[in-house]
Amino acid sequence: IPNVKWSDIGGLDDIKKELKQAVEWPLKNAEQFKKLGITPPRGVLLYGPPGTGKTLLAKAVATESEANFISVKGPQLISMWVGESARGIRKIFQRARQVSPTIIFFDEIDAIASSRGMHSDSGNSEQVVNQLLTELDGIESLKDVVFIAATNRPDMLDAALLRPGRIDKMIRINAPDEKTRLSILEVQSKNMHLDKEVSKKEIAKKTEGYTGADIEGMLR
Ligand code: ATP
Repeated sequence: IPNVKWSDIGGLDDIKKELKQAVEWPLKNAEQFKKLGITPPRGVLLYGPPGTGKTLLAKAVATESEANFISVKGPQLISMWVGESARGIRKIFQRARQVSPTIIFFDEIDAIASSRGMHSDSGNSEQVVNQLLTELDGIESLKDVVFIAATNRPDMLDAALLRPGRIDKMIRINAPDEKTRLSILEVQSKNMHLDKEVSKKEIAKKTEGYTGADIEGMLR
């Protein structure tokens, strides 16, 4: 279980709310959801430019839902299981079910789940996408496993993955605006001793185009 809290993430209030409703509530209140006849999303896709906090958000939702967190990077899965990535995927979902409630986080999912037919690697990536689809279909609703994927390239994903009942919630995370940059600055500098001449407001104004990761680098 990671230890990132909602309060460690500056701004992004709407996105936090969406994730709470889509992931945290169903994991924490499975019975109530069942009673009300609501099927929560099985999979959530976070997409947007690099460094905007996608990984951080996935970790925070796992912490706050008191769920186990299995984090996988697309390219890592391919290199660890050369020719056998499909088996790797099966194992990950198996493990997730064993230790549920679990959030499976797939970073850089475009590396393994790009459109079938786009590769020339003797069918390995096709097997991977097929296995992923099978596993997603097998996550019975309210069985305490939620799949969260992140990518900078949503356009490259296989359309079958994004069908309702699979990854059926897509959340876009944009580069932060001035107000969000100020919140990020505040969160990230809370343990730093800054001179009183330093105006975070002024810095937020001057850092148009900076992501959360850029602001972290600047502070360092
Ligand atoms: P990538 O697409 O490259 O994987 P990402 O969107 O997953 O990037 P993160 O790894 O979550 O980005 O963020 C990188 C770093 O930027 C984090 O470690 C964090 O310190 C900082 N960061 C980004 N967004 C925020 C935010 N809203 N509040 C606080 N810190 C942030």
